[in-house]
Amino acid sequence: MPATGTKDYYQLLGVPESASPEEIKKAYRRLAKQFHPDANPNNPGAGERFKEIGEAYTVLSDAEKRKHYDQVRKSPFGGLGGFGAGRPGAGGPGGPGAGGAHFDFGDLGDIGGLGDIFSTIFDRGGRKKGRPRGAQRGQDVEFLTEIPLAAAARGGKITITVPVTEECATCSGTGSAPGTQPQTCPECGGRGSISFGQGGFAVTRPCPMCLGRGTVPTQACPTCGGTGQLREDRQIALTVPSGVDSGSKLRLSGQGERGPGGGPPGDLIVSFRVRPDSFFRREALDLYCTVPINVAQAMLGSRIRVRTVDGRKVALKVPPGTQSGTRFRIPGQGVEKSGRRGDQYVQVKITVPSELAPEQQELVRELAKSANLRF
Ligand SMILES: [Zn+2]
Ligand SMILES: [Zn+2]
Repeated sequence: MPATGTKDYYQLLGVPESASPEEIKKAYRRLAKQFHPDANPNNPGAGERFKEIGEAYTVLSDAEKRKHYDQVRKSPFGGLGGFGAGRPGAGGPGGPGAGGAHFDFGDLGDIGGLGDIFSTIFDRGGRKKGRPRGAQRGQDVEFLTEIPLAAAARGGKITITVPVTEECATCSGTGSAPGTQPQTCPECGGRGSISFGQGGFAVTRPCPMCLGRGTVPTQACPTCGGTGQLREDRQIALTVPSGVDSGSKLRLSGQGERGPGGGPPGDLIVSFRVRPDSFFRREALDLYCTVPINVAQAMLGSRIRVRTVDGRKVALKVPPGTQSGTRFRIPGQGVEKSGRRGDQYVQVKITVPSELAPEQQELVRELAKSANLRF
């Protein structure tokens, strides 16, 4: 998670503060293209960067939001670095600056939802209805999954089972036994958050006793023991983009841990590992395989059938007099990525009969004599 409020939207887009809307748009388009996760499957940082660029553009492309942002950016209390931290003199219990006023720019979530979240940033005196104090975004969850080469080469749908913390259904996440009333949390006085330090350096965390809810159960829920949460296995269907390789990551927004105190959930980051294949060896977008042919096929030529990564078979013409180790190319049967496909390379390996009957040996001797082969 990036440090609180250190993001400079102008810096993120690489434009000056005086940039015109057209300049901002142009900078955004260029960067969004550069850091689009589809274009950077091997760079896990690109997704985060792409998101940040989106946030910056959402704010700076809207005249009203940009004006607000510029004001906050220049204000003595809300300058970059201290943005969102408790203001001096405003940290009284329940007062503005406590609890919900703490805001982490890294928590903006999806670009689409920004407008809604944004209104809460600037509405410092109030608090969004329905979201408890101390609400924070849930943790991102990283999950490693192994996929077969065919899925990496052509893409496909898989289902993964991810252990995540879910809201307890018995108590709807309150932690209170059904039918009982919770009481105000004695630790945080009902704010749901606790501040450390003071002034511009205050750090606000969800209250560890009530987990940001502001209340604690008088009688703990029997299902979850009062935590309001349960560990559960979540089945998630996802589409593997073609071209992924070991180390590629995919971010599924909102599929991570639920947020403490009713905050938005974190993201699920699926990290792929491509299972080694017994037939194919991959090099970037190309696939390599070795296929045995017998000595007659090598001498006289043949049409052989070779398996592709799709599981189909394609015909390959082996010309007469093919040497062992010769490599043939089957175009377009490699790994597909961003509309491009690599090739499949087939290396033939000549096999000879391990045993010959005496009359067969005689035939080979005759062949050798007539072809001037020494033996
Ligand atoms: Zn419960
Ligand atoms: Zn508390």
